[in-house]
Amino acid sequence: MSEFDAIVVGAGPAGASAAIRLASSKKNVLLVEKSDPPGSKNVSGGVLWGNGLSAIIPDWEKSAPVERFVDTKSVAFLTQDSKIGIDFSSKKLEQKKTGYTVLRARLDQWLARKAKEAGAMVINGITVEKLHIENGKVTGIEQDGDVITSDTVILCEGANPRVAINSGLRKPLTDHDVAIGVKEVIKLPENTINERFHLKSGAGFACEYVLGYLKGGVEAGGFLYTNKDSISVGIVVSMSHLRKNDATHTYDMIEEFTAHPYIAPLLQGGEMQEYSAHMVQEGGFSSIPKLYGNGYMIAGDSAGFSFSNGLVLQGMNYAIDSGIAAADTFAAAYDKKNFTENALKSYQDRLEGSYVMKDMRSFKGIGDVTWSPFVHKKIPAMLESLMMGLFMEEGRPKKHMTRMLLDALSQNDMLRVSSLMDAYRMMRRM
Ligand SMILES: Cc1cc2nc3c(=O)[nH]c(=O)nc-3n(C[C@H](O)[C@H](O)[C@H](O)COP(=O)(O)OP(=O)(O)OC[C@H]3O[C@@H](n4cnc5c(N)ncnc54)[C@H](O)[C@@H]3O)c2cc1C
Repeated sequence: MSEFDAIVVGAGPAGASAAIRLASSKKNVLLVEKSDPPGSKNVSGGVLWGNGLSAIIPDWEKSAPVERFVDTKSVAFLTQDSKIGIDFSSKKLEQKKTGYTVLRARLDQWLARKAKEAGAMVINGITVEKLHIENGKVTGIEQDGDVITSDTVILCEGANPRVAINSGLRKPLTDHDVAIGVKEVIKLPENTINERFHLKSGAGFACEYVLGYLKGGVEAGGFLYTNKDSISVGIVVSMSHLRKNDATHTYDMIEEFTAHPYIAPLLQGGEMQEYSAHMVQEGGFSSIPKLYGNGYMIAGDSAGFSFSNGLVLQGMNYAIDSGIAAADTFAAAYDKKNFTENALKSYQDRLEGSYVMKDMRSFKGIGDVTWSPFVHKKIPAMLESLMMGLFMEEGRPKKHMTRMLLDALSQNDMLRVSSLMDAYRMMRRM
């Protein structure tokens, strides 16, 4: 007889969601988290996209510690001197409210509290070392020689899934599987943020940047999101690109970003409240491990569920929905008292039927195009040339727009066959 029906490792969005779902259906569940309090070391940009939490916490937006709903979503290309952006502000974003800025230290503590209220036992400050395996079946967790047993373990340990790797459930990560995110939280008065970003109270701004000007030519993305009385600003750089430019440091990159002439004024007068760095799951479809086996399932970042196409960075939504899918799979297995690989196989089916696996399949290999010099160098430079042509008045005869576009493309070497192939590959994958 096991001590718990299920043990969930990690109280991020995936683990907390799984524990809430399990406890709500009266399962005896243990949620183990290494940080104390939960979320104190977790990092997201972060915009929580989607509405997955409503399946486990009705009207969650009313009680969750969300900062602002996103009513202006932007994407911008930065060169040394310019910013070329697209802003989307809409009453529709306000009505539907599909994105909320969040701070993980607050969100994760609230989620863990919800798991406790639902009936889960939550233990903080314990790092699970490995899985306890007997006769080929996972029967619990081990820490410091102690074993706690359960019928099933759900692994939700995030982007650095050491327990899964140490237990032979997934291959060690490669540079291709991860990016590094570095983030600052800059404190500013709520009114200053509202005025600076033209926001009404409660509304938020979220922008992803393509950084086409960093020293050493390293390719990186930037983000800037408004919280109630702070701004989250940071960069994400793929591990393999960072390794290729080993003279480049992430702390220099975030400084170059925050010092940009069109970013610095947005942060002016602010005080740094937090500085953090974290791994980002980037491997996409090819890095997804086997998601279930005898007595275990893997959810969230540990399973490789994260998505970035340069316009958005998402992972919390996949974490929540995969955590819930794992919990539902456990509940079905519990009714039959069968926790074998065969019984837990329906976890894969649940995910395949949801947007989680559909997105992972549809955007297979997207990292190969979004981290390319084509996106990070040629497009920003070409857009800058085009905008200069369109908007500079120098007392010379004007060109037609098609001519200007062709000139901008040709000045930036984008009419070559190789560039046209890059553009085609990008359009196909995105
Ligand atoms: C810089 C950055 C920006 C991002 N921006 C966004 C964004 O804007 N929107 C978005 O949706 N996503 C964003 N993401 C991705 C998002 O943060 C992740 O996809 C999401 O956190 C995954 O949730 P998770 O529960 O799977 O893992 P995590 O949130 O990482 O949670 C894992 C938990 O497990 C715990 N843990 C780990 N190992 C153990 C162990 N051995 N024993 C006990 N506990 C353990 C950890 O402490 C942690 O609390 C961003 C990520 C980064 C780094």
